[in-house]
Amino acid sequence: MTDSFAIQRKEMVERHLRARGIASMAVLQAMAKVPRELFVPDSERQHSYVNGPLPIGLGQTISQPYIVAYMTEALELQGGEKVLEIGTGSGYQTAVLAEIAAQVYTVDVIPELSHAARELLSDGCGYQNIHFRIGRGQEGWPEFAPFERMIMTAAPVQFPEVLFSQLAENGLVVAPVGGMDQRLVRYRKRNGKIESSDLIGVIFVPLL
Ligand code: SAH
Repeated sequence: MTDSFAIQRKEMVERHLRARGIASMAVLQAMAKVPRELFVPDSERQHSYVNGPLPIGLGQTISQPYIVAYMTEALELQGGEKVLEIGTGSGYQTAVLAEIAAQVYTVDVIPELSHAARELLSDGCGYQNIHFRIGRGQEGWPEFAPFERMIMTAAPVQFPEVLFSQLAENGLVVAPVGGMDQRLVRYRKRNGKIESSDLIGVIFVPLL
């Protein structure tokens, strides 16, 4: 079973990521390593490497692999960064970030999801660079600010601008923004000012 998942993971990286334009070696290597099948519910396990989102319970979803790769690539991680992630969910994106960045601070508002992700990532996979918080992501995590990178995996109608005060100079944020018509947006802090650029259309669960 493990072998078949390993083969499927390789295929996912080639067909859904590399062939569709994901070029960052760090991202491709991280996604070739993290076993996505551990992050989906038992009932969905056979679909672990389909390029689509899957339900993870409590009305939430694990994002499709291509979008995880696209967002991670857009963060332009060099390896030394402290990253704030809003929307821990299954913890899959968290693991991909933790493979590349120095420290990941991940926040989720649903305690059950945060607890399950902590058990899997810390106890199960042995990550020591992931820190968990239960709470509203809109408030960030001031105690550990500033963050060089931020990623949001649930969509606010408008980006909570208070988070920019927790973003380091030259820092990047990648987030879905919008209601029915969501866009992935990247923000960059330059000389204390925020520049934004529109990336692609996306569909995320709403930020609660
Ligand atoms: N990256 C996750 C995506 C999970 S779905 C994955 O790939 O599995 C979005 C997550 O955002 C859910 O876990 C949901 O509980 C969380 N969320 C929604 N609103 C939130 C808020 N205001 N603050 C923090 N987390 C929130």
